[in-house]
Amino acid sequence: MTRIFSGIKPTGHLTLGNYLGAVRQWVEVDQHKADALFSVVDLHALTVDHDPARVRRLSRQTATLLLAAGLDPALCTLFVQSHVDEHTRLSYLLECTASDGEMRRMIQYKEKAAREQAAGGSVRLSLLTYPVLMAADILAYAADEVPVGDDQAQHVELTRDLAVRFNQRYGHTFTVPKAVLPSVAARVMDLQSPTVKMGKSHGETAGIVYLLDEPDAARRKIMRAVTDSGSEVVHDRENRPGVTNLLEILAACTGGRPAELAAGYSSYGALKRDTADAVLEVLRPLQERHTALCGDPGYVDAVLREGAERARSLARPTVDAAYRAIGL
Ligand code: ADP
Repeated sequence: MTRIFSGIKPTGHLTLGNYLGAVRQWVEVDQHKADALFSVVDLHALTVDHDPARVRRLSRQTATLLLAAGLDPALCTLFVQSHVDEHTRLSYLLECTASDGEMRRMIQYKEKAAREQAAGGSVRLSLLTYPVLMAADILAYAADEVPVGDDQAQHVELTRDLAVRFNQRYGHTFTVPKAVLPSVAARVMDLQSPTVKMGKSHGETAGIVYLLDEPDAARRKIMRAVTDSGSEVVHDRENRPGVTNLLEILAACTGGRPAELAAGYSSYGALKRDTADAVLEVLRPLQERHTALCGDPGYVDAVLREGAERARSLARPTVDAAYRAIGL
């Protein structure tokens, strides 16, 4: 059976981008078709300046939201990364497989390091090695597929390179995974700056719709989204990024095709109204389930405990084999 792994960082409240770009695919497709593991990757949240209590709180909230979004522990495995030691054990071996140069070429590293430096902070070494830990997350489970948004495709490519290199040098140990991107909304953009992705780690802004936003707040953000000059509704990511983003969100929420939907609109206002309605329809049931789950913390604890046990039992043989292969 196909094995799937994917993760999400507890660095902020989950956004519509996380949901449309990743989580929805996990819920609607992946957990039904494969042996799927999903992780709240809290170790990755330590790669930038962080508040310990906030990371702990957000890990919990993220796991609860994933269950609210529809991950079903009877169908998939949900766990917190730091509960399973195999990730860090394997990460070190992969650091011995990767090169400094290929880490520095990662686009996310360059962007995030520049942000840290611009804010006057220092760049943590773990920010540079982050893609290696991500490779360990994936390879430890012998995952065949990694469903991710477009922003993570380069990291999955690196994971493949490291797996192939390790296998060639030390004997076949790892399954070589591939990234699976959603066909629409693989990159939901910020509503205020539609050339930048909607990212939960960017802090509270009017351009980000959070999954737990009050309906009025979410609607207001969409109605105030930056649109492009002109008034024609066309799907053109290059020249009309604002309108295209709204069309992609609408298409992802309603199951339509962005270019075909565009033909039905003659004004930005109507497009925004329909997009807001569609987004609220997606958020409503998710928020109701989230409220219910918050009243049952014992259930979430049990899911995460059992998830970690299963994850550990799957990862250990692969990581032990990697230790033996590399000479330890
Ligand atoms: P973030 O960048 O919001 O901190 P993560 O790095 O934790 O998110 O990514 C979790 C998943 O959500 C990944 O699969 C990532 O590709 C996807 N994702 C994040 N932001 C977006 C977005 N704006 N559009 C589509 N997918 C996204």
